[in-house]
Amino acid sequence: MKKQWNHFIEGTFFTPTGGEYIQEFRPMTGELGEEIARGSVTDVDAAVTSANAALHSWKNKKQIERGRVLMAIARDIRNSANDFARQEADETGKPLKVAAFEVELCAQYFEYYGGVAPALHGEQIDLGPNYHCYTTRDPFGVIGVILPWNAPMNQAGRAIAPALAAGNTVVVKPSEFTSISLLQMAQMAVDKSGLPPGVFNVVTGTGKETGEPLVVHPLVRKLAFTGSVRAGREIGKLAGDRILPLTLELGGKSPNIIFEDADLDKAIHGSIMAFTINSGQVCLAGTRALVHESIFEEFSKRIATAVKKLQVSDGIEFGLGPMTTKAQYDQVGRYYEVAKKEGAKALVGGEMPRTNGGWYVAPTVYTNVTNDMSIAQEEVFGPVLVLIPFKDEEEAVAIANDTEYGLAAGLWTKDISRAHRIASKIEAGQVFVNEYPSGGVETPFGGYKKSGFGREKGLEALHHYTQTKTTIIRL
Ligand code: NAD
Repeated sequence: MKKQWNHFIEGTFFTPTGGEYIQEFRPMTGELGEEIARGSVTDVDAAVTSANAALHSWKNKKQIERGRVLMAIARDIRNSANDFARQEADETGKPLKVAAFEVELCAQYFEYYGGVAPALHGEQIDLGPNYHCYTTRDPFGVIGVILPWNAPMNQAGRAIAPALAAGNTVVVKPSEFTSISLLQMAQMAVDKSGLPPGVFNVVTGTGKETGEPLVVHPLVRKLAFTGSVRAGREIGKLAGDRILPLTLELGGKSPNIIFEDADLDKAIHGSIMAFTINSGQVCLAGTRALVHESIFEEFSKRIATAVKKLQVSDGIEFGLGPMTTKAQYDQVGRYYEVAKKEGAKALVGGEMPRTNGGWYVAPTVYTNVTNDMSIAQEEVFGPVLVLIPFKDEEEAVAIANDTEYGLAAGLWTKDISRAHRIASKIEAGQVFVNEYPSGGVETPFGGYKKSGFGREKGLEALHHYTQTKTTIIRL
């Protein structure tokens, strides 16, 4: 029998009250994986009650002590990095090197927020000699965290570390496709790193059965959601009803603009990275390459040649991994058909490759595309790039912004004035110049438009997990 994983609540594994489990899969082969608990309203209530009970003592710890625990979590993640990376690779299908990079990022979030936790402070505001006025930054209380499947530990660290640093406790619902690494991380944090039981709980299950009860639980005081616009909208409606503060990290269809003065070798390498990273299953993927008309032909030929050489891997060590879910694999296949019908021309890819049964797709580059086509407007969430020519800066900006999303954008130019000029006109939460993607745990991250609101990463995220109280004393 496959191993069954229970929820992690109050520092221990917790059998689901309904006694039911959900099957995970192994994307590299399509075979059955291990099973995770199917969470119910009762299970979510147990997790939130535990997080609420742990709140008082956690938020009243000195900030430097909370920071020290987070640093210990970072240390222990690094000490077990190989095991975590194997688990992530197994569940998501990503090559081991990519999984290891994301595990390291997860450790860095705990390290960074552990380090800055003691620096969280309010300010004094001068209202004249008759007043003493100051602000404090209070935690919200119990934070619900709902995560997708594409980078489980990375996204978990990004949300959980600042929430805990600010004195909140958390209940995390990972994706039903990739829950196990999170359960292991929560167990490690309590058993090895000294995190008190109840501060970090994990309930597993589907969006409807487990996610929604978390959104509507009256003791959850803020929700951090990462996932699709579809689910973000559903969650937004539920949250609106109870005036629940939200961070929404949603999808993208990011432009990557290559000007005629760009270093073409670097721009081609970076543009491939932008749309193939994690096999394109990345919210900030640069999936629309807008290329100046004077270099369009050369760029198209060279990127197609380079993409043809990419390895679609049947193994864990190298190359492009498979889609993490069967539904995602089917979705990419559907977009190959949509692109054909719309008249796009595949310079490379565009057909499902033959594999060993795993959910592999072909990295694909389309030309003959206009920005109004579905293939240029909708998030495929696979390694699919469209090439669109532009004639001048004004047109580049107009095409770049002609999308309902606004998560990221890339620019390739040697002209620093142009870089600033264009960056200021782009409607996106982050603009990468001459590298894609760029930034680190320190750089604020989030969307414009339908890509969501609120910010993760950096000091801004720490502030997003607090609410400001202003105290005004008449002397
Ligand atoms: P998804 O929206 O289907 O699921 C995300 C999570 O939400 C899962 O845990 C799921 O169980 C849960 N969920 C679904 N419906 C729910 C509901 N009604 N109530 C409560 N919870 C619900 O997304 P996915 O397929 O797991 O991930 C892919 C999407 O995530 C893409 O659109 C991608 O762009 C986006 N994403 C965004 C970011 C970012 O930082 N902006 C990062 C990664 C992925």
